[in-house]
Amino acid sequence: TETKVWKEFDKAKLYMADLESGLHYLLRVELATHKTLEGAELKTFKDFVTVCAKLFPGRQSVVKLLEILQEWLVSLPLDKIPYDAILDLVNNKMRISGIFLSKKVQWVGCQGSRPELRGYTCSLWKLFHTLTVQAALQPKALINTGLEDSPQIVLQVMRRYIQHFFGCKACAQHFEEMAKESMDSVKTLDKAVLWLWEKHNVVNNMLAGALTEDPKFPKVQWPTPDICPTCHEEIKGLHSWNEAQVLQFLKYHYSSENILHKYAE
Ligand code: FAD
Repeated sequence: TETKVWKEFDKAKLYMADLESGLHYLLRVELATHKTLEGAELKTFKDFVTVCAKLFPGRQSVVKLLEILQEWLVSLPLDKIPYDAILDLVNNKMRISGIFLSKKVQWVGCQGSRPELRGYTCSLWKLFHTLTVQAALQPKALINTGLEDSPQIVLQVMRRYIQHFFGCKACAQHFEEMAKESMDSVKTLDKAVLWLWEKHNVVNNMLAGALTEDPKFPKVQWPTPDICPTCHEEIKGLHSWNEAQVLQFLKYHYSSENILHKYAE
């Protein structure tokens, strides 16, 4: 249940409440539309959980839940899993102590001025930006997890997650077109961070002025000069990005140091 009281927040910060509410929505709402997981879907979900278990910069209780879910998925000899079994684990039916993912949806930096605006899709962007940044900050984190040792790994897992599970099918199709065009040419973990930033700005540009835009949160090329002045340059009178500065900014903005726990219960 969402409260209608506006929560004050700092747009230069990341809120754990948004990331956790996003995970809650992904695991308990979006995934619930798939009654059984098998084949490429199951593989995608397993890989997504592995990436999160290793890289999500969250609270112990949530990271532990992700780790238990990952170990269970990896050890399972089945090629088909009912969603309800996943839900039982997410809800900690076995009552393992110290594992917990709140069922409360608490949008903070992802609040919309109307309930149908922002929220989950905003949190999903933030989650994947966070994961690409964490992979760049901890380049060894995914070694020996069974995932391919590639600088694109987080992007490729995101790509497959969006393809198989993201509820917005038009979004998924558009994202896949961008992925097909250039994701394969990403050669370093830093470039993966920048790739996702750039594509998110392409989406922002496409959606500026659209009906889905929250009037309180107009679509802009991000980060704006007020939060990252050095990201912006003018060359011969034309705007250009200083990508080295953008990278540095992203690596700070989506790091655990920049996460506030306010509103996360
Ligand atoms: P969002 O765009 O959701 O951004 C969330 C937050 O991320 C911002 O508030 C800001 O803090 C930060 N941010 C903004 N830009 C960047 C950037 N370039 N790099 C890093 N961080 C940034 N909707 C459609 O109508 N059509 C589509 O085709 C479509 N495709 C999508 C594809 C994907 C993969 C996803 C996750 C969502 C897509 N959406 C699409 C939804 C849309 O992008 C927004 O999520 C939604 O409109 C809510 O916008 P928002 O104002 O919360 O900002």
